[in-house]
Amino acid sequence: MYFYMPTRIYCKKNCVRNHAKELSALGNKALIVTGKRSAKENGSLADVQGALTAEGIPFVLFDHIEENPSIETVMEARDFGNMSGADFVIGIGGGSPLDAAKAISLMMKHRAKTESFLYEKGSDDAYPVVSVPTTCGTGSEATPYAILTIHKKRTKSSISHRIFPALALCDPTYLKNLPLAVLASTSIDALGHFMESYINNNATLYSKMLCIEGMKLWASVKDLLLGKEGSDTDYEALLNASTLAGMAISHTGTSLPHGLSYYPTYETGVPHGKAVGIFLPAYLNAAENDQKEILSLLNFRDTEEFASYIQQVLGTVAISDELKRAAVEGMLSNQAKLANCPFPVDENVMQGMFLSKCISSE
Ligand code: NAP
Ligand code: FE
Repeated sequence: MYFYMPTRIYCKKNCVRNHAKELSALGNKALIVTGKRSAKENGSLADVQGALTAEGIPFVLFDHIEENPSIETVMEARDFGNMSGADFVIGIGGGSPLDAAKAISLMMKHRAKTESFLYEKGSDDAYPVVSVPTTCGTGSEATPYAILTIHKKRTKSSISHRIFPALALCDPTYLKNLPLAVLASTSIDALGHFMESYINNNATLYSKMLCIEGMKLWASVKDLLLGKEGSDTDYEALLNASTLAGMAISHTGTSLPHGLSYYPTYETGVPHGKAVGIFLPAYLNAAENDQKEILSLLNFRDTEEFASYIQQVLGTVAISDELKRAAVEGMLSNQAKLANCPFPVDENVMQGMFLSKCISSE
């Protein structure tokens, strides 16, 4: 048994302002990293800037992290951060800026290294990272992973280094701005983390405990993904569930749905959570040992009801035969993801992952 969760996490309204003092312990100048728009619109950037100003900590802003951030963007932000003399990094936004912040802080610390270091074994030493999530799916605030787009390989992959944020400030207020499609997609990402962590060779009593409580919490607010109006408590539940799921995958990793998702996301731009979600019904069908318990925790009668819910939330994604071939081939050689999967996987099983109400061939 092994459990490691070094991130100091707060999940509460106004937690950025209320924990400003903890920022000053992390460094003398901050590099803030965000996407193009949302952090300016939902109040998270203003809160962080206000907290830094209150503590007298200077900062610079890099505000153009794209969705599914690329190695190129990480390197551009690294140079900007080093030139500005920053010595800690604050990521604000969805998983994209949060993951980018980890990779940027690693590369800032290893300033003489080139981009190949991201995918090489070596020191995980990085400047302290702060995560301020504004979506409720990736759990990046509680994981050591940073998934980047590798254009040369036409897919995405987690960097080789493990970097836990030092501090995570999770204010559910920021979620209120989320368009339904983004709320739904990111919450399904969290569900994928729970299911892939529970149905996993690396699962332990600790990781299962996180999944069991987390899935119950997630299920209590699952109607929000269908458009039901949410209360403050509901948004807090979604954000807490996402963080718990992050802690769970920190110990187990993810499995087939995540591994497969990177191909449609790269080739057709399907958002991450949606690309994961379309594979969840088949993953649950294949996991005979865990199926009953997961359905009961999520409050679904059977696998059919689960698949219908996922389709209602996500709709259908078209996947061409060529894309399917590339994904199946890529995954059959992805030893890390296959090793996490508790049932034997061959070409047939992999093809079966595409038999879903949510997937149409073009
Ligand atoms: P995202 O790519 O960070 O953001 C998606 C969209 O949502 C962007 O257009 C963003 O706008 C917008 N947005 C973010 N917060 C918003 C808010 N509060 N209100 C309105 N719009 C908002 O989405 P994500 O699904 O959270 O992250 C996906 C990335 O995380 C992928 O690269 C995935 O591989 C990775 N991931 C990481 C882990 C991990 O363990 N580290 C786990 C799963 C997934 P702006 O661009 O303007 O900000
Ligand atoms: Fe994910």
